[in-house]
Amino acid sequence: MKVQNKSFQPEGIRQTQLIDQLGRTVDYIRLSITDRCDFRCVYCMAEEMTFLPREEVLSLEECARLVKIFVYLGVSKVRITGGEPLVRKNALWLFEDIGKLSGLKELVLTTNGSQLEKQAQDLRNAGVKRINISVDSLDAIRFKKITRTGDLDKVLSGIQAAKLAGFENIKLNTVLMRNFNDDETESLVDFAIKQAIDISFIEEMPLGEINHDRESTCVSNADTLKRLQSKYRLTPSTQSTGGPARYWQVANTITKIGFISPHSHNFCEACNRVRITCKGELYLCLGQENKIDLMPLLRNHPSNDQPLIDAILASMQIKPKGHDFDLRRAQPSVIRFMSHTGG
Ligand code: SAM
Ligand code: SF4
Repeated sequence: MKVQNKSFQPEGIRQTQLIDQLGRTVDYIRLSITDRCDFRCVYCMAEEMTFLPREEVLSLEECARLVKIFVYLGVSKVRITGGEPLVRKNALWLFEDIGKLSGLKELVLTTNGSQLEKQAQDLRNAGVKRINISVDSLDAIRFKKITRTGDLDKVLSGIQAAKLAGFENIKLNTVLMRNFNDDETESLVDFAIKQAIDISFIEEMPLGEINHDRESTCVSNADTLKRLQSKYRLTPSTQSTGGPARYWQVANTITKIGFISPHSHNFCEACNRVRITCKGELYLCLGQENKIDLMPLLRNHPSNDQPLIDAILASMQIKPKGHDFDLRRAQPSVIRFMSHTGG
């Protein structure tokens, strides 16, 4: 399929913005480019996963086409995620193709870090500005227990490679789970301070069917903040991403600590994002089922972007007010895995 060039402008189409029924402007997309991963983190995947057949997954050209359309519709920030985006063959091609799009101010990546030692510099050169690396433990045995297949040394080498590559910002993402890794809260922060990078703590979200009781493992960010405040001097940062993260500056360091707290509804009013799965489903909210399927439009109209543009604009009318995650429910709020939707 032919992909439009970098000065992409659909012809005869009025430029328009993505504004939902509540007046929220959507200027941020998260695009999952694969459901596959080399890890099987306990909170994210089942041990035995069946992945999608290749033909049901967006090609990289289709991913690039979608990004260009969203950028045309006013999106200025794109996060590439997965699954593990860097295990997708030729993923670098996509970063290079979209990295220089005028209008795209921030191309960012979420990765488990396993491939970064090899790819960090190329990604930086392609235009990736910032990078989030997921690390839940600094103990190799425990890291393996949480990720089931991960090698901590590889990820630590990946973090060093990312530092050398010169990203504008590197942030660790940590999901804290009671009696799994919550005793490492301070050592993870100390590590971030030593590396002069940021760290965010993510509350575990009830996505997908996995076999541990989330109500008993979920650590509230309010408790984590209280715990950290007794060791570090933290001042609230004004940084806001329009999402669920709130940041605190650690005094006398350049490290910021973020708290991603999906269980508080506070962030939904300012939500500026939508998610696209590797199957081309456009989800209007991480915690709700409202979606439209972009794959048939992509494949039925290979050289006409108007049907896609119309569908994406119309989808703004079904963006929900907010999620309704509830850890006390026996069933997960949303059956799909995070690796499917893209974290
Ligand atoms: N594989 C990459 C990684 O691990 O960074 C990108 C995809 S992963 C789905 C994105 C983020 O989602 C990771 O930081 C991961 O810790 C987080 N995540 C996955 N499942 C989650 C869950 N049930 N609750 C909260 N965060 C989750
Ligand atoms: Fe893979 Fe990321 Fe999910 Fe872990 S959190 S299983 S690394 S997609």
